[in-house]
Amino acid sequence: MRQEHTALTVAQEQLRIAAEKLELDPGLHAMLSKPKRTITVSVTIKMDNCTIGVFDGCRVQHWDALGPFKGGIRYHPNLTLDDVTALAMWMTWKCAIIGLPYGGAKGGINCKPKTMSQGELERLTRRYVSLIAEYLGPHRDVPAPDVYTNAQTMAWIMDTYSQLKGYSIPESVTGKPVEIGGSEGRVCATALGVAFCTREAAKALKLKLKGATVAVQGYGNVGYNAASILQDMGCKIVAVSDSSGGVYCPEGVNPAAVRVHKSKTGSVLNYKGCRNISNSELLETECDILVPAALENQIRGDNADKVKAKIVVEGANGPTTPEADSALYEKGVCLVPDILANSGGVTVSYFEWVQNLTREHWTLETVNGKLEDKMVKAFGDVQKLARKEESNLRTAALMLGVGRVAHAVKTLGLWP
Ligand code: GLU
Repeated sequence: MRQEHTALTVAQEQLRIAAEKLELDPGLHAMLSKPKRTITVSVTIKMDNCTIGVFDGCRVQHWDALGPFKGGIRYHPNLTLDDVTALAMWMTWKCAIIGLPYGGAKGGINCKPKTMSQGELERLTRRYVSLIAEYLGPHRDVPAPDVYTNAQTMAWIMDTYSQLKGYSIPESVTGKPVEIGGSEGRVCATALGVAFCTREAAKALKLKLKGATVAVQGYGNVGYNAASILQDMGCKIVAVSDSSGGVYCPEGVNPAAVRVHKSKTGSVLNYKGCRNISNSELLETECDILVPAALENQIRGDNADKVKAKIVVEGANGPTTPEADSALYEKGVCLVPDILANSGGVTVSYFEWVQNLTREHWTLETVNGKLEDKMVKAFGDVQKLARKEESNLRTAALMLGVGRVAHAVKTLGLWP
């Protein structure tokens, strides 16, 4: 039976596990279990047909003990405030694990981005930013892309924020187009980080990447680019999917060709030479490596046993429930958790912010080299702690992230 989990119950349970292992002060645990600030807004815009559209928006700022708030903005029809709260919490741990001077935040608007025009999305974005602008800023809270937002959305955010302040402030947002101050490598950063983690996990398991079979759930920025980079590293991509379903082909597919097919037909379904499968079948595909790169709550207590991969690398935030974590660990599956595996995105966001603040522009080689150093270091730190604690990588990653934030909160003290 499907267990009823929300992203927030999963995030709270993960925090509880980490707090217990760290023997965290109950007061500190209670503090970290709630966001420092939640801003909810009603985003009203003129729709193309001249009616008024009213959308629920929010920005959740979890904790900023390690630096300004940082995190993406998500547009999705099923988005709830609880989801955004969980995602903000994960951002806090993520930044701490990778060693970025940031706290965690997340924002979102409940809307149907796929059915909205560019003009409607632009008005939605600008109105939303105008409503939360007083809580944003390069040293306060720096947004970035997430599900169904992209570099264009970030350009609108930068422009709206800059117009409100009266001068250009590129460091107010990351994930912008390169021409207006974005960083080289930001678009592929999350996927490249996923690939580095896959390589490190394969090394630990003595699994050769050359010829290793991979299934990828989700074909957005993270899923597609992860499939493409892993193929370049020698892997065979045997299954991919998007929100409409997936395709399976034991001989392997060319990710770029599947993307062309998706852009023509609207989905990966019916790609030539493949068998159509459902998203749940994709998770159970015969493969060495599984990359969930879609949404939360996909690998659960009821299907974890059917996962056949030896390595799971979480490109998405929150795809696995705590029950599934335990089941996979008992089966000997190596799961690289979201807060480590997908931290490449926010890491290059940090590089973008640093470049903006110093008015510099780094080459792609510099960006990717620095990303690799940070990811390999963080993977090593988490792996070492997992061995010491005899725990899975998720618990070790949480202990590292939660531990660092808790220490900072305690050191700063409470005022007033
Ligand atoms: N939305 C991305 C994440 O979940 C990136 C956040 C950022 O770059 O600030 O990590």
